[in-house]
Amino acid sequence: MPKTKTHKTEAVMRLIMGGADSAVNPMIDEEFKEEVITPRLSPEERAEKNAEIEKFRKNSVDIDVAAELVSELLPKAMRRFNCCNCPLCFADAMADALDTVPKLKVRLRADNDIKKADALKKKSRRDILLIIIRLVIVRRGLPKCDEA
Ligand SMILES: [Zn+2]
Repeated sequence: MPKTKTHKTEAVMRLIMGGADSAVNPMIDEEFKEEVITPRLSPEERAEKNAEIEKFRKNSVDIDVAAELVSELLPKAMRRFNCCNCPLCFADAMADALDTVPKLKVRLRADNDIKKADALKKKSRRDILLIIIRLVIVRRGLPKCDEA
């Protein structure tokens, strides 16, 4: 039996690999989280996080609904509240926001899990936006990097 065979159904694989009109890309957020969040954690937290990521890779694919909402809403909120938007401040705000929002993950196993993720996203949008606005209001008082 070839080793490359996956247990995922073709339809789910198509969703994961993403066609042009696929709205979600869970991989981008996971990669971003690994790069930006993981270095900020303590060694124990990092080991825990890595174990979690390993498990996630082995078992299935999760859609991180909270992370998707953060990456969608945070840039607009930062512009609206006139925060410094340089890459450093943006990464910092993103890391803060991802640490603060509740974990909202949907594991992709069946075709309708993607609908579940969309429903959760719709339902959580307002809560996540309120959290982001609170964070952005705090950041708004910080000096902008090019003016400092
Ligand atoms: Zn800045």
